[in-house]
Amino acid sequence: MTSIAKFAGIDDVVRLRPSVSWVERPEDQIEFFFGNTRRQKTLRVEATLKSALRLMNGCNSLASIASQLSISHQRLLDWTSHLVECSAVERVAGVEWIEHSKWRRSLQMLADFIPDYDLLTVWNSIERTEFVILGCGAVGSWVADGIARMGGKRFVLVDPDTVVLSNLNRSLFDASDIGHKKTVAVARRLHNICQDVNVVEHQEHILKLEDLVRLITPKISQVVVSCMDFPNVDMAANCANEFCVKNLIPLVVAGGYNLHLSLIGLSVIPGKTACFDCSLAYLRKALDPERLQVKKLPRQNRNIGNIAPLAAITGSIASMEAIRLAIRDERLPPVMTGKRGEFNFLDESFDWMEIPKQADCKTCSHLDFAPAET
Ligand SMILES: [Zn+2]
Repeated sequence: MTSIAKFAGIDDVVRLRPSVSWVERPEDQIEFFFGNTRRQKTLRVEATLKSALRLMNGCNSLASIASQLSISHQRLLDWTSHLVECSAVERVAGVEWIEHSKWRRSLQMLADFIPDYDLLTVWNSIERTEFVILGCGAVGSWVADGIARMGGKRFVLVDPDTVVLSNLNRSLFDASDIGHKKTVAVARRLHNICQDVNVVEHQEHILKLEDLVRLITPKISQVVVSCMDFPNVDMAANCANEFCVKNLIPLVVAGGYNLHLSLIGLSVIPGKTACFDCSLAYLRKALDPERLQVKKLPRQNRNIGNIAPLAAITGSIASMEAIRLAIRDERLPPVMTGKRGEFNFLDESFDWMEIPKQADCKTCSHLDFAPAET
C-alpha cells in the first residue's frame, strides 16, 4: 500500500475517476457528474485547464501535460489538487493498491467520498477499530458479517447462548453451527471471510453495567453495537448506552423487532448527540398513552414472529453505521444519530423519527452538550 501527499506533485499521473464524467457548459463552466453518489458540481474554468483535464487519462504525468499546454507547473498543480480534493480525479500511484486488494469494491465505494490521499488512513482506521458486538443472534450475526465484509478486522463478541435449530430461520447460522456457542459460530464465519481477523469471545450474559465494565476494556478506536434483547431490547440497549456514555465510546443500537416493525437505531456519539436514554425519555413523552388516549394492553409471554430478511435489514444498516462511526470522517458521517427508524414489513417502508437530546437526561446531561433542542 502507498500513502500519497495531499497536494499534487508534478510527477503525478492523474486520471478522471471511473464513476465521474464531465461536460462543458456556457460561460467557461464545466459540470461534473459523480455517478455513484448522484452529485453534481459546477466549476468555472479557463480553456487551458479544460484541456488539461482532457489529458488526465492515467498515462500523462502532470509535467508532460504542463509542457504540452505551456502552462505553469503551479497553475496545473493547484487545479489538480482541487480536483483531487473533490474526488473528481485520482492519482494512479495513490489508488493502484486498490486494484490488487480483495476489498477492491469496498475501497472504490469509499473513494467516492474520500480523496485518494486520505483513503489509506480511512481504511486503516476501519482495520484498527475494535467492534464490540453485544448479542450475536438474529441481528448480531448479520452485523458482524456486514462489518467483516466492509474491512473490519477486530471484534469482541458477547453472547451466552448456543445455536439451536430454531435460530436458523432468522440468523446467519447454518446446520453445522447447531450445538456450538453463537460466538463460536460467528467467529468461525468471520475467519472464513478474512483469515487474519482478531476475535475475542465472551460467552456471558450482560445484565448490568458492571458486567460490561468487567468484560470490555474501553479503547480510543472502538465502536459498540448493541444487539441484545434480554430481558428486552430497551433495557439491554440502555445498559450498553450507560457504559458507552461513561467511556465516550460511539454506540449503535441495532434495534429489535416489534409488531411487524424492525426497529433501527439510534446511534450515539456521547457528548454530541442524543443518547439512548434520551430516546426512551423522548418516546415516553411522544407516545404517552394518556395523551394519545389509547389503552395499553399488557400481555405476558408474547411470542413474536420474525424472519431472516427483517433481521438482515436491521443488521445491514447497523453495520454500515458502525463503519461510518469507525471512520470518524465528516465526509462520510454517521446518519442514525438522533434518529430512530422503523422498517414496516406490511408495505416495506422506512419511517424515521427525530430524537432530540434531552437536557435533563440522567445518563448524558452532565456532558458538554450544546443546548438541547425543543
Ligand atoms: Zn441522554
